[in-house]
Amino acid sequence: MNNLTAKFMKFIESNGSKKYFFGGIAVAILILFACTFSLSTSYAVVIDGKTAGHVSSATALNQAMAAAKEKAQQESGMEITGPYNTVKAEVSHSLFTSTMSYNELKTLLEEKVEWLAPGAVLNVNNGEIQFAVATEEDGQKVLDKLKETATANVDASVVKSVDFQEEVSVEAANVKVSEIQSVDKIIEQIQEGKEEVKTHVVEEGESFWMIAHNNNMSVDELQKLNADIVPERLQIGQEISLTKQEPLVSVVITKEVTVEESIAHSTEYKDTSSLLKGETKVVTKGSDGKKEVTYEVKEANGSTIEKNVINEVVVAEPVTEVVNRGTGSIQLSSRSASNSNGGSGVLAWPLSSNKITSPYGTRSRGFHSGIDLQAKTGTSVYASAGGKVVLASWYYGYGNCIVIDHGNGIKTRYAHLSSYKVKVGDTVSRGQLIALSGNTGNSTGPHLHFEVIVNGSTKNPVNYLK
Ligand SMILES: [Zn+2]
Repeated sequence: MNNLTAKFMKFIESNGSKKYFFGGIAVAILILFACTFSLSTSYAVVIDGKTAGHVSSATALNQAMAAAKEKAQQESGMEITGPYNTVKAEVSHSLFTSTMSYNELKTLLEEKVEWLAPGAVLNVNNGEIQFAVATEEDGQKVLDKLKETATANVDASVVKSVDFQEEVSVEAANVKVSEIQSVDKIIEQIQEGKEEVKTHVVEEGESFWMIAHNNNMSVDELQKLNADIVPERLQIGQEISLTKQEPLVSVVITKEVTVEESIAHSTEYKDTSSLLKGETKVVTKGSDGKKEVTYEVKEANGSTIEKNVINEVVVAEPVTEVVNRGTGSIQLSSRSASNSNGGSGVLAWPLSSNKITSPYGTRSRGFHSGIDLQAKTGTSVYASAGGKVVLASWYYGYGNCIVIDHGNGIKTRYAHLSSYKVKVGDTVSRGQLIALSGNTGNSTGPHLHFEVIVNGSTKNPVNYLK
């Protein structure tokens, strides 16, 4: 070989060994790689259908689950029956997956897996609302305490029964350990209640009462929720709050209450011509009766939701008042003048003692339209017949004056009075005290001036007095 050939061979030789050297490194890297990222022997940890990570063996998952269960059992003190979630190990076909260490897996399970234990569920309205409790006794305790609180200030002697407005039940069930609550916590939530935020926008023609009614509320309730709103001044477009805070469970207390109530008496009128129209006379005095009424009252959250009469015992019957009502009329035909000293008419004298000091008719000072009767100031003045008071006030020279309309165009006037015992509009009966005599108006001394007016003209009263 020549020198050139030798050099060439050397080159080949050295180059070849280098090739082997580089190839060896590549294989080593591949093996290392395969060791770190398992190619075919990993398992996916699938919780409720979702892959949460990978582990190298299915046994590791079983062990970690057992450990997590043990931990949950110790922490809760309950007999754990199993996981709430479905946890599976599935063979993974994906390449280059990174697997978790055993401790990482345990932490993952502690975070993601919930455990079931035999406890109980308190159902409200067939499961509309549910509370998990450790035992059935706890569920019952919640219900008992709710009743206890609701009846704390109620007289036990009138309580007939204590129930719940909602359908409630306690049933044994497997419950999530994480959801189990204490008796007091549940009571707190029940009493706090639900707050459904609801508003109503006032529309044309709506009243506060209507809005309350349409939302099963009383006006008072609605006013409480809308303290700043004046019901009489609702405006279209105004927002009204309908947000009611009610407990999740309402205790209904049924009471039996007996109260004494009065029975109003009725009045029976009997028409009689022996009394003048407008006159009445009580024949039998009426009186109210008494009864003992027993009510069944249902109360919830401090207000009455139902009230029914269940028994009624009459203790005293009412007495009907019987009243004679006059239909008679004053006879217009005047009596003869011979009766002037006492008269034989139908009108009663207006005083208990009647002495005429100035008669009806023409006198020196002009025509006297009535009779003057002697009376010290303060003497009782009585209605001459039944009728209606049409004037009871100062009237020119008459001073304090009363006019009674007896119907049939007949009126009587009483003048110079010191005080009134009746007012305009009153119905008076014959002989009723109507005023006290006096010396008011155009009068020269205390007396009673008395007039009889028939169809607008004064007549000599003496002819009408009895
Ligand atoms: Zn007179």
